[in-house]
Amino acid sequence: MAENLNLFTSTQEVIKKALQKLGYDEGMYELLKEPLRMLEVRIPVKMDNGQVKVFTGYRAQHNDAVGPTKGGVRFHPNVSEEEVKALSMWMTLKAGIVDLPYGGGKGGVICDPRQMSMGELERLSRGYVRATSQIVGPTKDIPAPDVFTNAQIMAWMMDEYSRMDEFNSPGFITGKPIVLGGSLGRDKATAQGVTIVIEEAAKRRNIDIKDARIVIQGFGNAGSFLAKFMSDLGAKVVGISDAYGALYDPEGLDIDYLLDRRDSFGTVTTLFENTISNKELLELECDILVPAAIENQLTAENAHRIKASIVVEAANGPTTSEATKILNERGILLVPDVLASAGGVTVSYFEWVQNNQGYYWTEEEVNEKLLKKMVEAFDNVYTVATSRNIDMRLAAYMVGVRKTAEASRFRGWV
Ligand code: GLU
Repeated sequence: MAENLNLFTSTQEVIKKALQKLGYDEGMYELLKEPLRMLEVRIPVKMDNGQVKVFTGYRAQHNDAVGPTKGGVRFHPNVSEEEVKALSMWMTLKAGIVDLPYGGGKGGVICDPRQMSMGELERLSRGYVRATSQIVGPTKDIPAPDVFTNAQIMAWMMDEYSRMDEFNSPGFITGKPIVLGGSLGRDKATAQGVTIVIEEAAKRRNIDIKDARIVIQGFGNAGSFLAKFMSDLGAKVVGISDAYGALYDPEGLDIDYLLDRRDSFGTVTTLFENTISNKELLELECDILVPAAIENQLTAENAHRIKASIVVEAANGPTTSEATKILNERGILLVPDVLASAGGVTVSYFEWVQNNQGYYWTEEEVNEKLLKKMVEAFDNVYTVATSRNIDMRLAAYMVGVRKTAEASRFRGWV
């Protein structure tokens, strides 16, 4: 039988198992197997050549029993209704794992920002906010950056919402530039969170970070900051990659040099002649492997050849369920995406709290609070996994879904 590469249905399967383990019946699964709301919009944008192009966008709100929904908006050619739905469900899980007062949401627009001018991107971003304005808002659903969206796009979106609302609404969106109410530490938060879980996982496997060899797939926001943090901690980053290829040096790559040379989409390997493929990268000799790029990278086909003893998923959905099983059987410690990449939404929550109170924290305060949340989250998931003898993904889903299930029950929805 062919492997299930569908992120939506494989997420549903794990949610189902997690709810069963927690003792919930079929009714709870019926409620949580899909988002409560899914809005599809068409956004007309005047392009620079004078013609109008109509883009399709989505906003999914998985469940708001705990609080407003929260999650990023991605601008990417591969955005689809199913992907946005699955991603909104993962946001519920992330918020549950790090214990934030949110449910999960997610948005996306089918477009290729690499082919668009700044003016076109601004008009698209503002159009997205106008099109979804009825269901989003600081106490309803709070967007944030995701794949190929950034602080500038958040600024345009916040400005558009503030104009419609007729007052300044910084709490409408997170991941903003600092001068517009962004939080210190938000840009590095996902990578900080991944670094913290790597340190926790390494402790459990008696690996000293200073002696560790690390391979990172992806050199975007998460991958590049992570490479920097890891090399600052004394680890050897022996492999990195971007969409075009990968670099390998068993003695450790010069991360500062690579950061200096990469472009804003994280491309750097095109500058080198001696490259390897992304596929070869994943199978390199190393202690810790971090897929920080795209989905379905570790599959039944290559999971047997992975040499790392710890795999930390900084990307969303990089490992199939078949591969999860194989890695688990091989004794490899797999830290799942919904735990490993929860640092971004955690500092987004801190940003929203600071916006609501109008009082801003130092970067040290933010990092200290993030450290506490991530260590606690790792500990909870690890304890459930070991005490119940289940894999870390199922354990993370159990921890992640519990609060939303309980809140839904208290509200009388199930
Ligand atoms: N897009 C990020 C994620 O998938 C961040 C979401 C947020 O900050 O709300 O976790």
